[in-house]
Amino acid sequence: MSTLSQVELAALAESVLTPNYKPAPVVFERGNGVWLYDVNGKRYLDFAAGIAVCALGHGHPALTKAISQQAESLLHVSNLYLNKPAIELAQRLTEISFADRVYFSNSGAESNEAALKLARRYLQVVRGEGNRSEFVSTTKSFHGRTWAAISATGQPKYHKGFGPLVPGFTHVPYSDLEAMKAAVGPNTCAIIVEPIQGEGGVVVPDEGYLLGLRQLCDDEGILLIFDEVQTGIARTGHWFAYQHSGVCPDIITLAKGLGGGVPIGAMMCSETVAHGFQPGVHATTYGGNPLVCRAALAVLDTIEADGLLSNSAEQGDYLAAGLQDLVDDFDGLLSVRGRGLMRGIGVDPAIIDRAAIVSAARDMGLLLTTAGADALRLVPPLILGSSHVDEAVSLLRQALEEVC
Ligand code: PLP
Repeated sequence: MSTLSQVELAALAESVLTPNYKPAPVVFERGNGVWLYDVNGKRYLDFAAGIAVCALGHGHPALTKAISQQAESLLHVSNLYLNKPAIELAQRLTEISFADRVYFSNSGAESNEAALKLARRYLQVVRGEGNRSEFVSTTKSFHGRTWAAISATGQPKYHKGFGPLVPGFTHVPYSDLEAMKAAVGPNTCAIIVEPIQGEGGVVVPDEGYLLGLRQLCDDEGILLIFDEVQTGIARTGHWFAYQHSGVCPDIITLAKGLGGGVPIGAMMCSETVAHGFQPGVHATTYGGNPLVCRAALAVLDTIEADGLLSNSAEQGDYLAAGLQDLVDDFDGLLSVRGRGLMRGIGVDPAIIDRAAIVSAARDMGLLLTTAGADALRLVPPLILGSSHVDEAVSLLRQALEEVC
């Protein structure tokens, strides 16, 4: 292992990695529960969780054991053959959701890519409606960085320099049912939305929006895709955010929390829609790899066994109350947004420099992120307790006092 200092490692990273990221100059070495430790041994309370990924925190014994046991027996076989963890995980995912069938990918973007391809094939090949190739998505959405995923993403900054994009995507304001109705036409194939926008700034839609989308899709005979890459796997207090609304989509996409830190994604759908895929039409070499599926099974088992669905809801409410106190006390903090342990604070960027807050909090030992144009985001591990929430709110208060 390298003996370079943190500063030297950061400088080396800058010279050998492609310049598409702008990481903070912190090199993490290990983690334990809700804590991360950098190479200098400094401790950080992790309210970023690898961008809403580390559902069980760091070094969780159940996840570590599942990964090491699986690594000892079998890592990879490809989809030319079957493996037990993939079959069991698919079964498990169908039991906790509306879905009947599962396709495994390696990331959120790939899950969305699969969903968009499946929707087109289902409409065009199974239903024989060859004209239906278009998608309606929302402004400020985020669906990932493959070409179709950035085309679905309603944020021009992710499009710049990558044109021409995949044709057939229209974006309308989020939570605006009338705009969605106006955008859907005879060539529309599907609507894709996040049940709560994550990267757009932790935005919860108006009551009735998701139900309205369902009715619109049913009336028009088109598919409804929920991107639950960020909201899924107990992040909002239910297994999936759609379960708060009681509205079932036709297709749902997952990644992030599903693997608790190993790269796995999933696209899940109803029995009918699944028939848009036939052997050979879509694939990925690593999809459903035994290692990541075994890890995901451990994540799901632990969430259930340790009561993390209710913990997410309860600690999420407790966190929201703590953040509300900050909103009451600081000019420029506008509102608390989100659900469960997916929380954002709306910020007036003219009054508060969010990057300065994130940086000051990090120096004080708290990791959090920005989201969208006007939010600070807190997406901690689902295992946290109220003392961690208290400490995070206190550190954030100190960071605000220093910067504001
Ligand atoms: N969809 C949503 C809602 C996301 O929040 C993200 C990532 O932040 C993605 C898709 C893309 O996932 P990935 O980075 O794993 O490709």
